[in-house]
Amino acid sequence: MSFAVRIVLVEPSHPGNIGASARAMKTMGFDQLVLVAPKDFPSAEATARASGADALLRQARIVESLNDAIADCAFVVGASARSRSLAWPTIGPRVYAETVKAQLAQGNVALVFGPEQSGLTNEDMARCHQLVQIPANPEYSSLNLAMAVQVLCYELRMAQPGGDGLSHDGAETRDAPLATADELNGFHEHMESVLTAAGFINEDHPKLLKLRLRRIFHRSRLDQTEINILRGMLKALDPRVIGSQQDKE
Ligand code: SAH
Repeated sequence: MSFAVRIVLVEPSHPGNIGASARAMKTMGFDQLVLVAPKDFPSAEATARASGADALLRQARIVESLNDAIADCAFVVGASARSRSLAWPTIGPRVYAETVKAQLAQGNVALVFGPEQSGLTNEDMARCHQLVQIPANPEYSSLNLAMAVQVLCYELRMAQPGGDGLSHDGAETRDAPLATADELNGFHEHMESVLTAAGFINEDHPKLLKLRLRRIFHRSRLDQTEINILRGMLKALDPRVIGSQQDKE
């Protein structure tokens, strides 16, 4: 899984943060890094902190201004730790991830981070369609630059189907298709008949128990193999079947 989202660092002052950002990007499947007037780059410290992501650093594009970095982008999101005097539309990471996912279909998307000391200026923010803020301690809300890159890349990754390595209904970890409503109903009717024959379901007041049993098994999202196992168990435990086997013996 790789993402066509450009990560733009505006005037990063610490080369270590550039390297750590590259590493954060690579772990999440991003590879487009643009540096706007970095104070100290290339640098041995950046390469060291990038760890295995040094190729990503070597490919980084270096530009003079934010305008150059985002010139061909149809959607620009700025990452901001705090609200400015001028209210700018700000969203949280989950909404941002959904928004970026939708915008990627329309054109290039840039995610812009500010310098460590001062953050994005009002002029920088005026280049952004939207700001995203990572919820944090209101008294100490400024994350390290590379950590902010990590969180926002992670959120984008998680918003993809299968982003957590599993499909949302767990289907990738299944070795059989989920049971259909019909198969589930067949199982419940079978279970109810066995439990009635066993005297467990009181035929005068069966309703609530039957509903509760259905609720338990609906929660467990049974697949077809599991239904077959359960029905095999019911068959083996059915007093009518056991009785007829004993008759034969
Ligand atoms: N001191 C600056 C923060 C600089 S941190 C300020 O108060 O604005 C460097 C960059 O990391 C920020 O410009 C922003 O792009 C990103 N960042 C840090 N914390 C963040 C947060 N809570 N939400 C979103 N972005 C954040």
